[in-house]
Amino acid sequence: MNFKNFPMVPRVAFGRGSLSYLNEILEPRRTEGAPYIYIVDDVFKEEVALASEIQLSETDQILYISTLEEPKTSDVDALRDQLKQDFDILPSGIIGIGGGSTLDMAKAVALMLTNPGNASDYQGWDLINEPAVYHVGIPTISGTGAEVSRTTVLTGPTKKLGINSDYTPFDQVILDPELTGTVPKDQWFYTGMDCYIHCVESLQGTYINAFSQAYGEKAYDLCKQVFFEGDHSTKGTQDKLMMASWHGGMSIAYSQVGVAHAMSYGLSYVLGTKHGIGNCVVFDQLEEFYPENVSEFKQMVAKHDVEIPQGLCKDLTDSEFDTMINVALGLEPLWENACGKDWKQRITREKLRGLYEKI
Ligand code: NAD
Ligand code: ZN
Repeated sequence: MNFKNFPMVPRVAFGRGSLSYLNEILEPRRTEGAPYIYIVDDVFKEEVALASEIQLSETDQILYISTLEEPKTSDVDALRDQLKQDFDILPSGIIGIGGGSTLDMAKAVALMLTNPGNASDYQGWDLINEPAVYHVGIPTISGTGAEVSRTTVLTGPTKKLGINSDYTPFDQVILDPELTGTVPKDQWFYTGMDCYIHCVESLQGTYINAFSQAYGEKAYDLCKQVFFEGDHSTKGTQDKLMMASWHGGMSIAYSQVGVAHAMSYGLSYVLGTKHGIGNCVVFDQLEEFYPENVSEFKQMVAKHDVEIPQGLCKDLTDSEFDTMINVALGLEPLWENACGKDWKQRITREKLRGLYEKI
């Protein structure tokens, strides 16, 4: 068996308007003189108003971060250095408010405030030795499961790989579906499909077990309700997708993702394609691996009239294809989950090149 013994988020608040309890949650945990640092998606700086729930004390700080690109290890190091320079005390906590990019940034900064060296030193499994600073996650878009997972996905100098550790999960999560009401439709779809694909890859994988199946089937069912019966502006749909994201994340915690994620990581490493849209672009071409779900996916694309970019790899050089293939093939557990123990016989470099050429 594939033994795991992983921590879960110990505290979670759910409900429309639950962000208004943030202060109540944080104040008892404040260390005197130590600020709370808010790492917030900069879409909330101007374009979208974030409810005035955030009550800053004198030393608290809001750091707005751009999500045009996914977080890099160097971004994490820079933010950590800035905080160490600005304050001579560790923060009372780090609060991440945003999508997967922002939540991952918040988790990584919380870890790197207490662990020496650079974030890239810890890309991998169980390399973190010291507990992180108290950290809180507040998702504002649903799908990645970053709010519940034990990883923070980062692009480093040589690889795109998460810091997977028992200290990575948030200490507290606030699930307030109201916050997702302003997400543009296409982005809602791409990030929501990340959740759908987590479910498919977990449920169809060889690592599947009753734990992952229980969460995965619930999340899959919720995704189908959301994308076949709902639309992005309905309150009930927002609530459901937030819970689907959570359950999808829990499902892969005891199994693994598969072909779409492995290939999407390669795409993102070479072309900077963001996770949600990258997964969609790849999944669109994966009939061979997930025939029924790819057909279902295409129906959802049509229903919501979303554009799935084509021809992304058409001008790539051989060396770029090679890098992409190296990154994808490096994710061995994903391939083993998708194709079984003898996956290397089926997934050769040539095979992968052929798949990438279709994208
Ligand atoms: P994102 O965080 O990049 O956000 C996508 C876009 O939506 C951004 O432009 C953002 O500004 C906007 N947005 C977010 N909330 C909004 C709101 N309420 N209103 C208006 N606009 C809003 O995208 P994502 O898909 O949530 O996350 C992708 C990232 O998550 C990738 O970096 C990926 O590697 C990571 N990821 C992490 C895990 C994990 O377990 N840690 C799992 C899957 C993906
Ligand atoms: Zn994903």
